[in-house]
Amino acid sequence: MLAYTYIEHGRFGLLDKPTPDLRDSRDAIVRVTLGSICTSDLHIKHGSVPRAVPGITVGHEMVGVVEQVGSSVISVKPGDRVTVNVETFCGECFFCQHGYVNNCTDVNGGWALGCRIDGGQAEYVRVPYADQGLNRIPDSVSDEQALFVGDVLATGFWATRISEISEDDTVLIIGAGPTGICTLLCVMLKKPKRIIVCEKSSERIRFIREHYPDVLVTIPENCRDFVLRNSEHGGADVVLEVAGVEDTFRMAWECARPNAVVTVVALYDKPQLLPLPDMYGKNLTIKTGGVDGCDCAEILRLIEEGKIDTTPLITHRFPLGKIEEAYHIFENRLEGVIKIAIEGK
Ligand SMILES: [Zn+2]
Ligand SMILES: [Zn+2]
Repeated sequence: MLAYTYIEHGRFGLLDKPTPDLRDSRDAIVRVTLGSICTSDLHIKHGSVPRAVPGITVGHEMVGVVEQVGSSVISVKPGDRVTVNVETFCGECFFCQHGYVNNCTDVNGGWALGCRIDGGQAEYVRVPYADQGLNRIPDSVSDEQALFVGDVLATGFWATRISEISEDDTVLIIGAGPTGICTLLCVMLKKPKRIIVCEKSSERIRFIREHYPDVLVTIPENCRDFVLRNSEHGGADVVLEVAGVEDTFRMAWECARPNAVVTVVALYDKPQLLPLPDMYGKNLTIKTGGVDGCDCAEILRLIEEGKIDTTPLITHRFPLGKIEEAYHIFENRLEGVIKIAIEGK
């Protein structure tokens, strides 16, 4: 089968590999019908994910159809349409039992698919702990509607869940990339008084204005003043930092009012400074990633009810055989790309 593979630092390639087999009674084999490319895939390519294993098939955002299940799998059966969770988790350890599935203590716990074990930019993928890692897609929900459930949308949903948002709040979201937009969609469900998005790309600003006209938009240079003018208590009540570039961590805590919650969703390339003397007395609560992706069933229900729609994020579509071209567009942010759907079989 075709499998897009991490060959070495700086190089991915489309290889012919054997179709995966069941290795454990809790595994499932999924035929990938639709996948996507995530910024984390680029992080692997450029060497900022040291635990990524050369030779693995990349890709951790996908939906598909169950082909085979191991004898212990009870929640899905062959023929079911499913979302695949970016995280592998056993469901039994201390962290899983408390909902902290990102820290599952299994050897493959956390982000393994497309990083430490073969992922889904391929025709088939083996999913360990299938009862935890797969969720059935309701019949009325299309593959495109479900495509982001297991990764970027799970991240936005989790970030929103831990951010303690109430209806009186002014919420600042820093960054309107794919995860930022998914975070925005989930924050909108909490109906805060005001949502401000800070973004520097004019294309992404246009996208936000076109699709979410009630959201206020600012650029990084003006962000602090804009938030002050558009909030009641000297800053945002809740800040979600989803950009992860130079200065956005500082911006996040500076734009927060005293006693605010600051949720850091972003994955930084470099260490960040936590200047406690400057922050002293601001009494902030800072929460950090990565995603505990265990709400996929609820997210699918919200999509089914028409409350979340991520399909506008799909700006491009390519067959698996042309994935190189898709990466070129995604990596260089050409043609106003937000997300690319990779069509499998
Ligand atoms: Zn991802
Ligand atoms: Zn676990």
